Amino acid sequence: MSKLTAQDSTEHETVITTKDADSGLTAIIAIHNTQLGPAVGGCRMFPYAQEAHALRDALRLSRGMTYKSALAGLPFGGGKSVILGDPRREKTPALLRAMGAFVDMLAGRYIIAEDSGTSPDDMRVVAETTRHVTGINAQKREDPSPATAHGVFLGIIAGIRQVFGTECLAGRSVAIQGLGHVGYHLAKNLTNAGAKVYGSDINVDNLRRAKDDLGLTAVSPDEILCQPCDVLAPCAMGAVLDESSIAKLQTQIIAGAANNQLATTEDDERLRARNIVYCPDFAINAGGIIDIHHQQHNACSDTRAAALEHIGHNVANILERAQDRAVGTQQIAIAMAEEQLRASSQTNPHDSKQLLCSPGVSR
Ligand code: NAD
Repeated sequence: MSKLTAQDSTEHETVITTKDADSGLTAIIAIHNTQLGPAVGGCRMFPYAQEAHALRDALRLSRGMTYKSALAGLPFGGGKSVILGDPRREKTPALLRAMGAFVDMLAGRYIIAEDSGTSPDDMRVVAETTRHVTGINAQKREDPSPATAHGVFLGIIAGIRQVFGTECLAGRSVAIQGLGHVGYHLAKNLTNAGAKVYGSDINVDNLRRAKDDLGLTAVSPDEILCQPCDVLAPCAMGAVLDESSIAKLQTQIIAGAANNQLATTEDDERLRARNIVYCPDFAINAGGIIDIHHQQHNACSDTRAAALEHIGHNVANILERAQDRAVGTQQIAIAMAEEQLRASSQTNPHDSKQLLCSPGVSR
């Protein structure tokens, strides 16, 4: 295991990488901030073309997790792991067990969960070699994706209210990029509410399932981002909103589950300049982690539902403040999350270096 060198990793507490020849595992864990608690974040598996791309993902995703938990009022820090490889061909029990051993070296400073390319079943295998796995509880291991989809659904309603002055989804059109774990459940919520749903997926099985089950209208992956609609919901990969794609958007609202939707910080302002209301990803996609927290504490379904409602209020608050101050919504959401971190450091001063005591872990 070795420390990675990356120019923009200076704000992270820990970035470590591993290459395990026996299982074929190549993975990175990035811990951004543990001020509010242990770093919780999903494990993404993707066939990155270069290790630098995987590192960039881990750094950006872990930072987003810090903001997500802070805004959601959860006692978690921000972390993320990535496994370099094709989940359809290279994911084996040995590789997942090696990942668990890698996580275990951090002695609980990073807690792993499922993410794109990994599943709750995979986390069961990871749990054979580390107890620092979440999205599961002792008796029952639940998929957080329906809760994430519900949170996005509530965020969409907040966006619709901001733009159209109504909460009614009947007749509104929503284009979903990615019909995987979250996208499928989101499409279901939206069709149940009477919205007209367009969907796209590069995985033909996922697209067929959504079409057959929900009757949504299929759109080609090349066209989904510029589909004319009221709401665009990116639910696949990050960095889909850049200078080029923003120029072609034909939507009034962007509200989806994907992490790191903005390719650069300037894209926040680009969206505002086009009068497109962007619901910041780390605010709207917190449903999964909120649910995980409540599962851990065996909270009743009413408590879990009430906690998810918080997402709609947060998104509405962000959109209103951004409009009042004439600045980008992402900028407002980051400021709100950082305010939470500052408030916590005043009430509960905490030196994250004290946690850096596991052997072999580099900062
Ligand atoms: P998933 O892997 O189950 O689904 C993603 C889907 O997107 C897949 O079906 C994939 O084939 C499709 N896809 C990939 N590239 C595409 C493209 N260019 N065009 C169309 N479809 C494409 O992942 P998921 O769990 O549904 O998560 C979706 C996104 O939401 C990810 O960015 C993830 O990090 C984020 N997220 C997920 C959760 C959760 O609870 N699962 C929570 C927070 C954030």
